[in-house]
Amino acid sequence: MTSLGKLTQNLTHVLKNLNTTSCISATGLSNQQKRWTGNLSRPEIAQADNMMAVGNRRIFSEEHDMFRENVRRFFQEEVLPHHSKWEKEGQLSREVWEKAGANGLLGVNTPEKFGGVGGDLLSTAITWEEQMYVNCSGPGFTLHSDIVMPYITHYGTPEQVEKFIPRMVAGTCIGAIAMSEPGAGSDLQGIRTNAKQDGEDWILNGSKVFITNGWMADVVIVVAITNPTAKSAAHGISLFLVEEGMKGFVKGRKLEKIGFKAQDTAELFFEDIRLPKSALLGEANKGFYYLMQELPQERLLIGAMGLASCEFMFEETRNYVKTRKAFGKTLSHLQTMQHKLAELKTEISVGRAFMDNCLEIHNEKGLDNVMASMAKYWASDLQNSVATRCLQMHGGWGYMWEYPIARAFVDARVQPIYGGSNEIMKELIARSIVSN
Ligand SMILES: Cc1cc2nc3c(=O)[nH]c(=O)nc-3n(C[C@H](O)[C@H](O)[C@H](O)COP(=O)(O)OP(=O)(O)OC[C@H]3O[C@@H](n4cnc5c(N)ncnc54)[C@H](O)[C@@H]3O)c2cc1C
Repeated sequence: MTSLGKLTQNLTHVLKNLNTTSCISATGLSNQQKRWTGNLSRPEIAQADNMMAVGNRRIFSEEHDMFRENVRRFFQEEVLPHHSKWEKEGQLSREVWEKAGANGLLGVNTPEKFGGVGGDLLSTAITWEEQMYVNCSGPGFTLHSDIVMPYITHYGTPEQVEKFIPRMVAGTCIGAIAMSEPGAGSDLQGIRTNAKQDGEDWILNGSKVFITNGWMADVVIVVAITNPTAKSAAHGISLFLVEEGMKGFVKGRKLEKIGFKAQDTAELFFEDIRLPKSALLGEANKGFYYLMQELPQERLLIGAMGLASCEFMFEETRNYVKTRKAFGKTLSHLQTMQHKLAELKTEISVGRAFMDNCLEIHNEKGLDNVMASMAKYWASDLQNSVATRCLQMHGGWGYMWEYPIARAFVDARVQPIYGGSNEIMKELIARSIVSN
């Protein structure tokens, strides 16, 4: 049995009538379409009745569909009903993290030999997409599972893996990564947080800002200067595993944001923290190299979530204009509205084709930094453009918090900023063009 097979088997609820989902049974593809799609029964989103339907897209299999059904059910039952409360509190409950763990939603792509779920990259991408399809930005599951955990499994010692990964998969240990500082975001080489060796220990000082999951985190990967006289800052940076409860580790305030309101984003302070040598992640002074290795997945993830949000906003808006009346008819009767929908569907479908291409390549471990940067910058820009247009089509109701499009609009705004701003993405892409 494939690891994905085991994964779906392990889930608590298994979809019974898999092939009865409307999109599979009602594809009606022409022979030419079948030739192009390869996988006969799976429409691309340009061909699908609903962009979010289970069974779309040839990159996925029926096993993926079963997994998707379960992830969808989890977000609809365990996240959506509580999200408004968490928005007011500025954080999730511990309970939902543990429920996510118990339902096999954390560490989906982490190999079983490390205590993870053992699914492929496409399975974990399903968790990214489903979170956006339910329009709940609160859970920091993706950062925890697909940004933080890979650093530990790729560069950690067996002891570090054993200490953190099983608890992270269970949702009892929440992870964060702290790169950005008040004075250094885009320019990571400008960070000031530093660790000095003292015998076998390290003494960590400094501060970080904008840290996702920072308030609830039990373990934080902290980026620090360890060799201030290195030939360049990049050669003198290391990663450390800093744990909640360590003396000198202080969490500042939960930051108040215009979006992502249910997600805890925090300031962190390190005041003479004495770290044992076992807190060093990987080799000393190799931190910048590790970051460069892992950033493509972070960028792909941001882009993929942005694209999924576009699909959500499109479906939400399509439903709205089909029911909202003006001048005696629904808005969807107006040709201007129809043209906007046509533009949106075309643009999102074009974006989806590139994104699925990236997901497929990354599933085979072939995605490079340039392609990931393109995916991040283009999809997050598209997301903002789609958000603006879809909100406009909702009129005044689109500006009301009770309408999902309002939340999707504010949540979209950060996407071109974090994970490396889109200006930095263009720098990376451009460098590869002119250096050839
Ligand atoms: C909600 C949220 C969550 C976040 N989560 C995390 C997290 O978990 N961990 C973490 O470490 N960080 C996190 N960040 C920080 C994020 O990665 C940074 O905000 C981002 O990298 C930009 O850095 P900055 O804010 O310092 O902006 P700056 O670097 O000051 O940039 C300001 C502007 O100048 C532009 N700019 C800068 N340099 C160049 C250049 N060379 N060429 C062209 N334009 C340039 C930028 O694109 C931007 O538009 C988060 C941020 C937010 C808002």
